[in-house]
Amino acid sequence: MMRVAVDGPSGAGKSTIAKKIAGALDIEYIDTGAMYRAVALKAIREDVDVLDIIDDIRIELENGKIILDGEDVSGLIRTPEVTMMASSVSAVPEVRTKLVELQRDMGRTQSVIMDGRDIGTNVFTDAEYKFFMTASPEERARRRVLEQQEKGMTQRYEEVLEDIQTRDYNDSHRALNPLRQADDAILIDTDGLTIDGVVRLILSYIK
Ligand code: C5P
Repeated sequence: MMRVAVDGPSGAGKSTIAKKIAGALDIEYIDTGAMYRAVALKAIREDVDVLDIIDDIRIELENGKIILDGEDVSGLIRTPEVTMMASSVSAVPEVRTKLVELQRDMGRTQSVIMDGRDIGTNVFTDAEYKFFMTASPEERARRRVLEQQEKGMTQRYEEVLEDIQTRDYNDSHRALNPLRQADDAILIDTDGLTIDGVVRLILSYIK
């Protein structure tokens, strides 16, 4: 059994990299951000306080898909609206308690690589490997704009950069489990590196 924690700010490329590493090591990839996004989507849809839905929400990850109360919502959780809502619901203690419990369960029975904000500092403090991936806000905004364009969506660079800075601030200033590098995590600065370059670098530490 092996647990690999990948934390870092939004847009650093964590999910792209973690997915590839999961493939290379033949272990399960768990996207914890998608879980916070699913909670946000449900709160938006039902237009209720997140505390009213958190107790009996069902969230599953299956073959890279995120299933909310039995429905595949993988495509629906990537809108800017859900993105901003996820950032705010993730500061609610009851939400974190519930999702962290689910995440620990997922890592109990199988080898996993999990990406998020608090995996190395909270979810799996005893993970065998911990990485903290960063890139400058400008580089992350550029990547996000390109990614959106490929999906046929357009968002202005300035707007994306501002969203990234807001989320960075929220993620690192919330009271409960803020984003920070664990003392024993390896820092991976991805500025100027290709995706394959980052994958090779991380695999060189694991093997
Ligand atoms: O990684 P992603 O951008 O999909 O995450 C969505 C939101 O969920 C983030 O803005 C962050 O606030 C929150 N999150 C978190 N803890 C995690 C993963 C995500 O607070 N482990």
